[in-house]
Amino acid sequence: MVKSTCSYCGVGCGVLVDKDRNGQLTLQGDPDHPGSKGLLCSKGMNLHYTVMDQSDRLLYPQMRYNRSMPLERVSWDDALDRAAAVFTSIIAKYGPDSVGFYASGQCLTEEYYLINKLTKGFLGTNNLDTNSRLCMSSAVVGYKQTLGEDSVPCSYEDIDLADTLLVAGANPAWCHPIIFRRVEARKAAFPDFKLIVVDPRRTQTAVMADLHLQIKPGTDVTLYHAIARGLIDRGLIDQAFIDNHTDGFDAFNEKVHERSLKEAASICGIPLEDLKWAIEYIGRSKGFMSMWTMGLNQSVIGVNKNVSLINLSLITGQIGKPGTGPLSLTGQPNAMGGRETGGMANLLSAHRDLANPAHRQEIATFWGVDSVPDKPGLTATDMFAALRDGRMKAIWIVCTNPMVSLPDSRIVEEALQNARFVVVQDISNRSDTVAYADLVLPAAGWGEKIGTMTNSERRVSYLNKFAEPPGEAKPDAEIIWTFAQKMGFGDAFAYTHPAQVYDEHVRLTKGTNIDITGLSHERLRTGGTIQWPVPTAESTGTKRLFTDHQFYTPNRRAQIKTVSDANHSEPTTPDFPLILTTGRIRDQWHTMTKTGKVAKLNTHIPKPFLDIHPKDASERGIEDGDPVVIKGHRGEVRVNAKLTKDIRRGVVFLPMHWGKLFNKDFARANNVTSSLYDPISKEPDLKFSAVQVARV
Ligand code: SF4
Repeated sequence: MVKSTCSYCGVGCGVLVDKDRNGQLTLQGDPDHPGSKGLLCSKGMNLHYTVMDQSDRLLYPQMRYNRSMPLERVSWDDALDRAAAVFTSIIAKYGPDSVGFYASGQCLTEEYYLINKLTKGFLGTNNLDTNSRLCMSSAVVGYKQTLGEDSVPCSYEDIDLADTLLVAGANPAWCHPIIFRRVEARKAAFPDFKLIVVDPRRTQTAVMADLHLQIKPGTDVTLYHAIARGLIDRGLIDQAFIDNHTDGFDAFNEKVHERSLKEAASICGIPLEDLKWAIEYIGRSKGFMSMWTMGLNQSVIGVNKNVSLINLSLITGQIGKPGTGPLSLTGQPNAMGGRETGGMANLLSAHRDLANPAHRQEIATFWGVDSVPDKPGLTATDMFAALRDGRMKAIWIVCTNPMVSLPDSRIVEEALQNARFVVVQDISNRSDTVAYADLVLPAAGWGEKIGTMTNSERRVSYLNKFAEPPGEAKPDAEIIWTFAQKMGFGDAFAYTHPAQVYDEHVRLTKGTNIDITGLSHERLRTGGTIQWPVPTAESTGTKRLFTDHQFYTPNRRAQIKTVSDANHSEPTTPDFPLILTTGRIRDQWHTMTKTGKVAKLNTHIPKPFLDIHPKDASERGIEDGDPVVIKGHRGEVRVNAKLTKDIRRGVVFLPMHWGKLFNKDFARANNVTSSLYDPISKEPDLKFSAVQVARV
């Protein structure tokens, strides 16, 4: 039996993998894993099939010199020599900011570390971003603005101790199922436990709720301000905590009193009585927690939504104690590991500040280079816009499929067509992005390489290798360090094992708030998972942050930030009167390159669909199952309608998974999604696009 960690969502469940004499794999949950306790959801239970079915795997490097030619097999040496020659000549001619890397929240920490070191330390650009930009970046800023650093304060264990849980813009029953099992268990064990769900859709999570606030999309801040006002007016806040450990309460108090509860309920489109119940449940609870994902994060006001929700924990003093705290759920398995290494366009290693010259110099000295560029790099959507208009010439895409997952696919397609040089490093030929590559590099997948990941509760896990990569596929870390050597940076990239990369990352965390000096590959491999910080070899990890109420801000006080409740999404109009929201379904993952090849997972929901309220459908002459066209400002999608009262009137829902290679009718949701994004986090507004729906 080999221990590893599920490579899908940010819950980070432990798995045990066994291999028989014929090489057949079996898989089960790891009963000793402290986060998942032996449980796995449908996706995790079938993970080994994605390793055994190699029908879609990229097996050897492929290259072409011109886009009208087919890709042809080449050796690794030829492939990486060409990549190094092209990157060198483009940088020489157009400068370092003309190239960039677009990576993934599925990359291992060691891979992130290497790409970050290569781009920022040696290529001379901060143009490294990842698909975590679409997932977590609003939560990162929310935590920084309130708590001082990107630090999840609590643990899954706190769910077992909470007595009120507010789930906002998330459907953990489908998308983080093993966390939701804990919610169900808590509810069963403690009947007074209250679950509040905020979502325009009546999801499987909302079905379980004691109170479902089915708000209008974009009104989240108004709701949390109204709850705050109710808590203040009823004396249900922790004034001593506010006075001793926070700044900003007076301005916040004034702001939340700008609207009456009645007005706020009307703006949010919920009954006033329900708003009052939410205030009571939160205000009377001894342990209040909140949990959220994309419904808050993927928004043009994602940061404000995060801040306004975290403020509820601060004014009630419900943080740093058992059963409390704001818990942002990561959508991807190692979004947090990426942030720890500084692997995004505006971050620096180990939570250092890119804007701080001393921090930049510290990293430059550590890497043995003169400097790290001060200008933040291009973020995900800006990077593709820059490729489209020619400011960027080359992009290296690692372990992600932007042709399906980025908003406004038209821009992505034009960007990849216009780019001088596109490298796609992936495991599967079913990524729609491969078709646009000049160079395709076959990567090892889960179970075929070793490394580490950090889940939503700061838990660092080791991923063992139990299978050989097929064909000539190589671990991503090895591909990157070999490329760096070919670029002439051999002294700084003379690695032979990912443990050496990990040790370097660990050394950079020393003395920081995410100190993992006490962690090594060997300790993780033999001792199991552990939550950072882990500053010494004796440390057993850290369940909860801020237990002393000393926050990571300069004056050690949490910041209750006052934000506007205005939404800046594209407005609905008579021509585009409905709000499109997108999201996941239970048994698929991202763009289906892994889950789409598991027969069992395709049976749950085999085809894309559009959820639409029966009254909205009837106004358009649409019946259940009818083919419909969803038109937006940027394009259209055709699917069959699914009439359901589980969605709010005026809102329609499309799953985000299907691209060209998994659906002959090409129901890519991002044909119609908005290209707006939050001005601070740069996270796209994927939950709010103005559309029209008509029967075909
Ligand atoms: Fe994997 Fe997430 Fe399911 Fe756990 S909950 S088995 S991490 S997909």
